Amino acid sequence: MTYRATKIVATLGPASSDPALLEQMIRAGVNVVRLNFSHGKAEDHVERARLVRQASERAGREVAIMADLQGPKIRVGKFAEGKVLLAPGAPFVLDAARTEPGDLQGVGLDYKQLPRDVRPGDTLLLNDGLIVLTVEAVRGEAVHTRVKLGGELSNNKGINKQGGGLTAPALTGKDMEDIKTAMRLRADYVAVSFPKNATDMEMARQLCNVAGAEWGHKPQLIAKIERAEAIPRLAEILAASDGIMVARGDLAVEVGNAAVPALQKKMITMARAADKLVITATQMMESMIANPVPTRAEVSDVANAVLDGTDAVMLSAETAAGKYPLETVQEMAAICMAAEEHDPAELDADFSGATFQRIDQSIAMGALFTAYHLGAKAIVALTDSGSTALWMSRHRVRIPIYALTPKVGTQRKLALYRNVRPLLMDTSALRDEALAQAEAYLKQQGVMASGDVYAITCGEPMGAPGGTNMLKICRAG
Ligand code: PGA
Ligand code: MN
Repeated sequence: MTYRATKIVATLGPASSDPALLEQMIRAGVNVVRLNFSHGKAEDHVERARLVRQASERAGREVAIMADLQGPKIRVGKFAEGKVLLAPGAPFVLDAARTEPGDLQGVGLDYKQLPRDVRPGDTLLLNDGLIVLTVEAVRGEAVHTRVKLGGELSNNKGINKQGGGLTAPALTGKDMEDIKTAMRLRADYVAVSFPKNATDMEMARQLCNVAGAEWGHKPQLIAKIERAEAIPRLAEILAASDGIMVARGDLAVEVGNAAVPALQKKMITMARAADKLVITATQMMESMIANPVPTRAEVSDVANAVLDGTDAVMLSAETAAGKYPLETVQEMAAICMAAEEHDPAELDADFSGATFQRIDQSIAMGALFTAYHLGAKAIVALTDSGSTALWMSRHRVRIPIYALTPKVGTQRKLALYRNVRPLLMDTSALRDEALAQAEAYLKQQGVMASGDVYAITCGEPMGAPGGTNMLKICRAG
């Protein structure tokens, strides 16, 4: 059987909402489905989530659902003609007080705070950096700029400030409503757009937990790193989150394209070292929106994210609005598997100087170390919360980790973890019986054969979360 360690996140949209196609995409390797709350109404998302659960059931593979919140809209207003053509060197006024539609002289602002966030000399990037304006003066509510890089500017295009510094809070009123929808459809992950610090993530977590309380549902939180000011605060943001997204689209606009590849490597390394998850996102297979094959550069980009150690690679418009959603997933899965052949195993270096306080974590690390040095076929974790599998999956040992859990919520959550294959199994409360069940199940799944050596962890008494306290090295009978 072919094994892929790196996970695939695919954004759902008009191009991928057909039930049969969605099922094929899940069979082809989608592990996490992203619902983009920047588009569509609450009921659309609830309906799409239902489609995902049904398709995953037909495919016989659990997937996680990730609700991606829109975040603050830092945008210009509308134009009388829908758009204008800005010429380099021309003056242009962004005016928060302007109520009439925009023209060649200037435009109103959706984001009323802008005049207080900028000063002369600042560079503003509009429409993903395609238009560049230099701030010359701020007078009252009007930001007077000069066009540095011209082009077409149309209604409601986004504004970024080079180097960061826009004060919009990460969670808007709409996001707070969307969190309720996300909990209603039991999103396994909630992605927060444009967080600046740990407080933004803590606030999002509180809102999620309150909204999910009715169903006892607590999602995992992903911080999208897409603001310049989030970079120096990465450690605190990681501590407040379950994972991060290298959101290269907006990030590139704020810090400049050239800085992004190195930042991606740094973020992936930091996330793994902090026992957190990391998704690499945006334009990974961009040309496949229109073409049936990727460019060489895209193939390299996906492969390099795998070699950097990302948990998952993400597809946005490729699967939401592209012409070849299924082919894109197939292609991406193949690139991941080929890259993983060259995944370095570097466990001993990771362990030198490491100390563990927790019993469950020590057992997880013990299993990893032993399995690695024995050349075991598999690592098996009987896990309730999934934390054993998380600790194990932060190190690169090239041995698949099978997480057996009685909870479907845990199984779905683990769909994002690199090198973890989550399986649903209701084990006996008796230890020896549970261990025998696990072995029989894995043999039945075809992932283990008689004579294979494997490491297995569990907790006694069985079934208590955080109770892992046992490691056994077995030879399959
Ligand atoms: P978005 O986030 O697609 O929601 O903008 C990802 C990014 O900015 O890269
Ligand atoms: Mn973004």
